[in-house]
Amino acid sequence: MTTRTNYAIWNGPIVMIGFGSIGRGTLPLILRHIRCDRAKITIIDPSEESKHIADAEGITFHKQALTKSNHKAVLKPFLTSGDGQALIVNLSVDVDSMDIMRVARATGSLYIDTVIEPWPGFYYNKKVDNASRTNYALREKLVALKAKMGKGPTAVSCCGANPGMVSWFVKQALLNLAKDTKLKTDVPTNRDGWAKLMKKLGVKGVHIAERDTQRAIDAKRLGTFVNTWSVEGLISEGKQPAELGWGTHEKKMPPDGHQHKTGSKAAIYLERAGANTRVRTWVPDIGPQYGLLVTHNEAISIADYYTVRKGAKAIYRPTCHYAYHPCNDAILSLHEMFGNGGKKQPKQHILEPQEIADGQDKLGVLLYGHKKNAYWFGSQLSINEARKLAPYQSATGMQVTSAVLTGIIWAIENPNSGIVETDEMDFRRCLELQMPYLGPVGGVYTDWNPLKSIDGLFVEPIDKKDPWQFTNILVR
Ligand code: NAD
Repeated sequence: MTTRTNYAIWNGPIVMIGFGSIGRGTLPLILRHIRCDRAKITIIDPSEESKHIADAEGITFHKQALTKSNHKAVLKPFLTSGDGQALIVNLSVDVDSMDIMRVARATGSLYIDTVIEPWPGFYYNKKVDNASRTNYALREKLVALKAKMGKGPTAVSCCGANPGMVSWFVKQALLNLAKDTKLKTDVPTNRDGWAKLMKKLGVKGVHIAERDTQRAIDAKRLGTFVNTWSVEGLISEGKQPAELGWGTHEKKMPPDGHQHKTGSKAAIYLERAGANTRVRTWVPDIGPQYGLLVTHNEAISIADYYTVRKGAKAIYRPTCHYAYHPCNDAILSLHEMFGNGGKKQPKQHILEPQEIADGQDKLGVLLYGHKKNAYWFGSQLSINEARKLAPYQSATGMQVTSAVLTGIIWAIENPNSGIVETDEMDFRRCLELQMPYLGPVGGVYTDWNPLKSIDGLFVEPIDKKDPWQFTNILVR
């Protein structure tokens, strides 16, 4: 497979909402791999910061912010003008994903996004309780909308690197683990089969274990929040409550942990900001590290997907959460922001590929608690390689934009699936499509466990009997 392959043909309009770091990286991939008429592509974004890229490609740029009140009126003409079904690629912040999905359904358009994004006001609303500001709450609404809408034009939800690609990694990792532990299994064909396989393998939990080692040439300045992807996106999710899929092997709720009263009850949340909450985790080469317990959709969707039930009772569920070590500048930026009462820095900066000296994004899934202890499977993409693969991306961006491209092709190949979460997609096809953009992808076993990261100088309420209790993972 070459990186120039045409995977799909699209004759109708393509509307891209949001043209930030992920949008401008996705556009060249669409143009490279989907045979389409660029005269029918429109980008909608209130900021003209990257308009020159659209102009250079001959793509129409419509400067406008979508809002709760204008989004239907603004979108409809673009989606219904001319012949052919439309495709919406939503890569914005501050635009409600589910409202755009409703427009997609009303106009018969295909749809994709990388996050369940709400309208402004949700993330920082002090008037509601913290349970209402969780990704659990957002996903419960999505699950209800999916059931209500039923089959129809495909709308792929949360299809970036994570959430997104990591759900495909979990499946590949399970099959590798089965092979390496000599467990005979067919490749499961449905959710129930996958959940039973994970249970049989004795997986207690999954970290989305990431380390971004990309290093800027210029040192971060005081008063600027620096990241390798959306600063706005990281701040908003980082200030949501920490959340995790809550496994059936867990013995003890964290002191500030809360269950939800309704819904799947697959996840809990903590009464503190995710980006200010540390967990012990592990990634290849670097080894043990702290990650941030930033809430993410996949922590909940994976825990829910792999739940085995007897009647209404969950008899097996893995713990699942993000354990994210962003780039050093972002760690410093978060430290500065939380130290200043959570006030955002006056300046935000997303590193351009040419501003990055070196480094990699190691993004994978760490399946732990099984016969072979722990297994990390993922992508280790360097900035140098990302620069060669496609324009306008950091290593992080490349992992995300190639997942978006994959999701678009999958939607075109499966156009009548209704709302789909990435756990439900054909992981083999998706990985086959995305692999050329991920750098080295593979798995590695480790004998690490969180107890090994506790030096014993201070008394901690740890569980020595089961190293893989969340009690041992959470840093106090
Ligand atoms: P960004 O901040 O660089 O860009 C967001 C863009 O949205 C900006 O250009 C902004 O002007 C535009 N925008 C803001 N308000 C808008 C409105 N009302 N209408 C239309 N456009 C509007 O962010 P990014 O790094 O490109 O990320 C885009 C989205 O992708 C974010 O929601 C982010 O959380 C998500 N994301 C997901 C993953 C994943 O792996 N799943 C990874 C990275 C980013």
